[in-house]
Amino acid sequence: MPPEPGAPTLPRSMRATDPRITTNDAYLEPARGRPNLRIIAGALVYRLEWVGQRCVGVRVVVGNEVVRYTAGEVVLCARAIHSPAILLRSGVGPFDVLRSFGIAPVVELSRVGQNLCEQPLVEIGLGNPSSPAKPIAAPPFGCVLRAGSGAPSDDDLSMFSAENWVSPSQAPAFWVGFVDPRSRGRLRLRSSDPFDDPWLEFDCSRMPRIAHVCAQARGWCRA
Ligand SMILES: Cc1cc2nc3c(=O)[nH]c(=O)nc-3n(C[C@H](O)[C@H](O)[C@H](O)COP(=O)(O)OP(=O)(O)OC[C@H]3O[C@@H](n4cnc5c(N)ncnc54)[C@H](O)[C@@H]3O)c2cc1C
Repeated sequence: MPPEPGAPTLPRSMRATDPRITTNDAYLEPARGRPNLRIIAGALVYRLEWVGQRCVGVRVVVGNEVVRYTAGEVVLCARAIHSPAILLRSGVGPFDVLRSFGIAPVVELSRVGQNLCEQPLVEIGLGNPSSPAKPIAAPPFGCVLRAGSGAPSDDDLSMFSAENWVSPSQAPAFWVGFVDPRSRGRLRLRSSDPFDDPWLEFDCSRMPRIAHVCAQARGWCRA
């Protein structure tokens, strides 16, 4: 999507009459029979395992057991919140913080957990929720309006999706949000226990008030 204000098209690959499918159905089921793939359900990654500063596996909680798996290559993909939490539990982060949790430091990276990005999104329903939803023939392209919110800072580009959405409430809706939020929050461990979810602080102070953006979006809807 171009960074400047405008109204680019948005390619769509979903028809309104088709259900959305899960990642499991789309990717895992077709690959389940591969001889080089082993899926371990209900496994919670406790920490990465190291030889020196080389990652050689993972320590995982499966049921009541802690199991160690080794591998030539480890890909950490537990998403924006749990990937840094696993890194911190594994000794990658600011050494003084790691030591305060009794975690053996491995690699000093002071920014782990310091770049948390939140993307607020507000849905504005257009239909009457009490009337039955009509099927929408979704076109192959939608339309996105992109503009500044008018707030003093220039880092608050908002997105105004004007395509034929079918919202969870089954009524057509617009979504308004920040495409490129610049505010950054923080993530901290509460403890070294993998069952203890990390503490999050979404610092949205650099964003304009979301109400301001919604008011502008409502104006666009009327126009
Ligand atoms: C509301 C919403 C709507 C979206 N819509 C779209 C869309 O329409 N199209 C699109 O392309 N993308 C969409 N996305 C983005 C898309 O979902 C992500 O980009 C994609 O799922 C990222 O895949 P991933 O494998 O990196 O992370 P995920 O799919 O989140 O997988 C991470 C996995 O790690 C697991 N995990 C976390 N911690 C641990 C641990 N300690 N031990 C073991 N496992 C752990 C989690 O349970 C999770 O299963 C949407 C996202 C959201 C939130």
